[in-house]
Amino acid sequence: MDCVFCRLIHEGTARWVAREAESCAFTPLDPLAPGHTLVVPTRHFADVFACPHDVLTASFALVQRVAAAMRTVLDASASIF
Ligand SMILES: [Zn+2]
Repeated sequence: MDCVFCRLIHEGTARWVAREAESCAFTPLDPLAPGHTLVVPTRHFADVFACPHDVLTASFALVQRVAAAMRTVLDASASIF
């Protein structure tokens, strides 16, 4: 499997923040800052143009929920999001 995101999802080895039907969130192995989280679709798409609108909608809804949780947990300002 060539795609690192798909491999993490398939193997279940990511440090999960959230796993949903259409999208998931996890922390990278080497986070750049506290709260650094990646949100990706659970299925592989070559790029954003190939991703169906319902998957984009679900993914960005998850981005919003993760950002809200980070703002609360890390006491981060809204300006970083
Ligand atoms: Zn992939």
